[in-house]
Amino acid sequence: GLNGHGRIQMRRYVTKDEAPETILEALKRPSQRSTDKIMAIVRPIINDVREQGDRALLSYTHKFEKATSLTSPVFKAPFPESLMQLPPETIEAIDISFENIRKFHAAQREEKPLEVETMPGVVCSRFVRPIERVGLYVPGGTAVLPSTALMLGVPAMVAGCKTIVLASPPRADGKLTPEIVYVAHKVGAESIVLAGGAQAVAAMAHGTESVSKVDKILGPGNQFVTAAKMLVSNDTTAEVSIDMPAGPSEVLVIADKTALPAFVASDLLSQAEHGVDSQVVCIAVDLSEQQVRAIEDELHAQATALPRVDMVRGAISHSVMLVTQTLDEALELSNAYAPEHLILQVADSIAVRERIMNAGSVFCGPWTPESVGDYSAGVNHSLPTYGYAKQYSGVNLGSYVKHITSSHLTAEGLKNVGGAVMQLAKVEELEAHRRAVEIRLKWMEDNKGRS
Ligand code: NAD
Repeated sequence: GLNGHGRIQMRRYVTKDEAPETILEALKRPSQRSTDKIMAIVRPIINDVREQGDRALLSYTHKFEKATSLTSPVFKAPFPESLMQLPPETIEAIDISFENIRKFHAAQREEKPLEVETMPGVVCSRFVRPIERVGLYVPGGTAVLPSTALMLGVPAMVAGCKTIVLASPPRADGKLTPEIVYVAHKVGAESIVLAGGAQAVAAMAHGTESVSKVDKILGPGNQFVTAAKMLVSNDTTAEVSIDMPAGPSEVLVIADKTALPAFVASDLLSQAEHGVDSQVVCIAVDLSEQQVRAIEDELHAQATALPRVDMVRGAISHSVMLVTQTLDEALELSNAYAPEHLILQVADSIAVRERIMNAGSVFCGPWTPESVGDYSAGVNHSLPTYGYAKQYSGVNLGSYVKHITSSHLTAEGLKNVGGAVMQLAKVEELEAHRRAVEIRLKWMEDNKGRS
């Protein structure tokens, strides 16, 4: 049971002894609460905020966050120093992480426009522009998550987004954790919306008297947040987009004989402590019974010493250890699962990384625990979950920009490509299209030698 005191252990499968369907079934993510039910709760909240603005936003914050003393749902920058009082060691940690995340995302800038001459005189180009206004959702609930504020805010700053709005549910006393205010200040946020859930998403999507409307909403959150993001992005009157679908966080560790059991267990547990719905998978490549047992013993010993042991117990109860005979088989399973976080504790992890087709972020070798990427290395921690790593990238600089294409033809260029255009316009029976070329070619003919 969830609150038992028995051994904390993942379900173990030796893949060669099982039918492939059994393994696939074991790797299935736990199904989430019915989206229909969540949508039915979220839809009226969004409508209220769209119709009644600040008044509705505040009343939901009073209800869900119990922050009944709150009288204004927004802090506008500049944020007072008194709201960001922090111990120097926390400031230093945030500053180091900020700088590493900034460096890695700044390197993702495309400095020069792409330019290609597809035919003589026919030049196509593509250039990048920031999304003007972004809304960043930083989950609240019980946890304090300045790292999520950094992961969403720093790339927005680097991309050059003009208006950065940060939303996070306040504590019951109506205040925000000072770490989040400090990060908002560092990334140059225009305002902080003191609200959570569907009401915060609705306020940023539609705008209210005091909340600025944004063009894109990014950030993780619970199922109410995710459902609200899906609803507003499908509502053409909101004119807003979102980063990606989100589900519970997950990790997959591939460990071979070179892996240290204590290290493997510590990575599995860093994920398991996120919540009971976290997914934790370990693939042991060609390990003996004794070696698999060593990982399991470490997992139990380290887990029972954790403050969040109950959370861990829940997560581990639906997590799996797969023992494969070969690395090939492990990689095949991992690519099919498409984990949010993939940890390679194998010999020559950099060579193995070449064979990864689907994953949010890959952590290579014994000295790269997932937690360095979660906080401070510089890579982003807002990543696709639930198998969406098959088609989505994690948050990156590209999430905050759009590309504009352009074409520029010379008269010679139009002569070169015009025939193809006119013929296709004819096929599609779009006569005005055809004539737009013809009229120019004729003009060139009539004005030959004159210009
Ligand atoms: P949250 O900020 O996502 O949600 C809080 C809001 O939920 C409240 O403001 C309220 O509006 C809404 N809510 C709660 N109960 C409701 C109800 N019955 N009806 C309508 N609305 C309701 O905070 P949380 O709930 O603590 O969830 C945090 C989530 O974020 C977790 O799922 C966690 O896994 C995820 N997370 C992900 C990352 C990441 O980077 N992948 C990081 C941190 C957290």
